[in-house]
Amino acid sequence: MTALRDETVGAGEPWSGVIETGQHLRITDLEGRQGVDFLCYNADNPLERYHAPNTLKAAGTLRLTAGHGLYSDEARPIFTLVADTAGGYNDTIGGCCGAHSNEMLYGVADCPGCRENFLEALGGHGLGRRDIVPNVNFFCNVPVADGGKLAERTFAPVPGGGTRPGDHVELRAEMRALAVVSNCPQVNNPCNDGKPTPIRVEVLPGG
Ligand SMILES: [Zn+2]
Repeated sequence: MTALRDETVGAGEPWSGVIETGQHLRITDLEGRQGVDFLCYNADNPLERYHAPNTLKAAGTLRLTAGHGLYSDEARPIFTLVADTAGGYNDTIGGCCGAHSNEMLYGVADCPGCRENFLEALGGHGLGRRDIVPNVNFFCNVPVADGGKLAERTFAPVPGGGTRPGDHVELRAEMRALAVVSNCPQVNNPCNDGKPTPIRVEVLPGG
């Protein structure tokens, strides 16, 4: 199957693209232990966008894996996850990192993150700060203990040594979708050992 797009996204870099209905988007963790932040929109009407509560209500779990939909605020699936080799460590509640939250959580100044990547990528599509909503984090672990307690600083390493090189998620577009990716630049938490690495993003024909 010849990819329509096949790109390596450097450590800490953004990516975006329009995925036609039925096409697949595959995101591969090339070196392992790399978190990928993800937003999606109806490409023809970006006011309709990813909605975490509808996604959680449909999935019945905080961790998405193959078979789950990424639902919009109109409760329609934008994408369906059709493959996940990383064991279901696709987080729905931790949101993106960014300069402000890095200062709040880690006490570091001037340390931009996925929020700034989202702003850059969204700008290319006429979108901006108003359009950032709580996002999906592929290959990330946000454990929730009995009683609702979160881990210290929210994110924890993926158990078992983390995602491995070649682990991937694949999503089928259920509508003409704008996908916005941030290959997470985070260096302050254990998700990627403080060492962001490249990912591969492919757009594949449907069928
Ligand atoms: Zn991030």
